[in-house]
Amino acid sequence: MGRAAHAAAVCLALVLASGALAPIAAQNLKDVDLVAERAAIGQFQDRDQRLQDIGWMMVRGNAEFCERVIPSIGLQLQDTASYGRPDIAKAALELDGAFAVQTAATGSPAALSGAFARNREVTAIAAQDPNLWEAGKRMHWERLTRAHDWIDAALTKAGTVTIGFADGSAASVTAVPVCTTRFEILGDSKTAVADGSRVVIGARFPGFAYEEDEVFAGVVAHELAHNLLGHRDWLERNKRKRRHVRLTEREADRLMPWIMANAGLDPAGAYRFMTRWGKKHSLGIFRARTHDGWDERAEFIAAELPIIADLMEREGKADWSVHFRREIDPNKGLDIAQRD
Ligand SMILES: [Zn+2]
Repeated sequence: MGRAAHAAAVCLALVLASGALAPIAAQNLKDVDLVAERAAIGQFQDRDQRLQDIGWMMVRGNAEFCERVIPSIGLQLQDTASYGRPDIAKAALELDGAFAVQTAATGSPAALSGAFARNREVTAIAAQDPNLWEAGKRMHWERLTRAHDWIDAALTKAGTVTIGFADGSAASVTAVPVCTTRFEILGDSKTAVADGSRVVIGARFPGFAYEEDEVFAGVVAHELAHNLLGHRDWLERNKRKRRHVRLTEREADRLMPWIMANAGLDPAGAYRFMTRWGKKHSLGIFRARTHDGWDERAEFIAAELPIIADLMEREGKADWSVHFRREIDPNKGLDIAQRD
């Protein structure tokens, strides 16, 4: 096969539809180049790591302003059942079971513990062996979601979770609060989307090719902003009219530099992202008519920068929950009883 893009492990969930699996499905395990497979998995994991690192800085750095917060240790696992060919993934990663470390976000409690090296085999999560949970034969992503839910549940209950490893050792890690959003890479996709509780970036998203973190961070911040401002629910309550979408998009743009500033990133990166890079690419988040023009969008972002700079100087943080001017009434469409 040779082409890394065909590697079994890269075929998470929705890749199935691409047809790229056909040659892989027919292969005998003994004919597979496991070194190439491992390298392809590694490439995919590098992208995931980049997303998790930036995502962590954002959900951690903005936690005190978020309406919904959960305890997190910044750990992401992988389950070979979610790959197109679990047997190939297992052999390439030299695993006996299906679960291993995918990423520990830089700066997170998981990373600081030093226990979560990439691909380290995991055999227990909060006193349960996830390998014993039922899974489909391949492309089965639900069990991994269950594992992450199980970690969240343990942390919500106790603030600490114990993860056991195949070598018999274990690590107990204590959580810190973060804004409630998970970051995920989607196999065969070029787009970036937010669904209210997740930010999902395609593994083929063009931004990955760029060295500058601000370009990548800008996209993540824009999508995260939709979640933090509750846009999905708001649009469901008040209809996805063109005008409504435009206002929520404008809010997401304007919140980008606030999110970045609190994450320790240069808030002006949001402006540079919009002007220098964004207009050349179709990101899936910039659809015609429902969005303002490029120049306008960049200007809206630029207008936030002095406000943020002033707050950072005076308070050391940019509290958008207090100081960010909304374009929409966040309570619109709620019954009086539902309002805060
Ligand atoms: Zn958007």
